[in-house]
Amino acid sequence: MARPRVAFDLNDVVEMKKPHPCGTNRWKIIRMGADIRIKCQGCGHSVMMPRSEFNRKIKKVVANGQPKDDES
Ligand SMILES: [Zn+2]
Repeated sequence: MARPRVAFDLNDVVEMKKPHPCGTNRWKIIRMGADIRIKCQGCGHSVMMPRSEFNRKIKKVVANGQPKDDES
């Protein structure tokens, strides 16, 4: 079984192995399902790809969009 090497979640900002041609390498995860949709933070272009492909292309998570636990 393939395991994701990087833990990611909805609204996280991620870096990919290849930057977008616009020069930005920051993408926000705007949809999670069988396919992942990410939006370039530089030009607003969005790309959808299968989760398996996303797992291969992601480099790292830059910022967490949502706290995992609200310790109140
Ligand atoms: Zn772009």
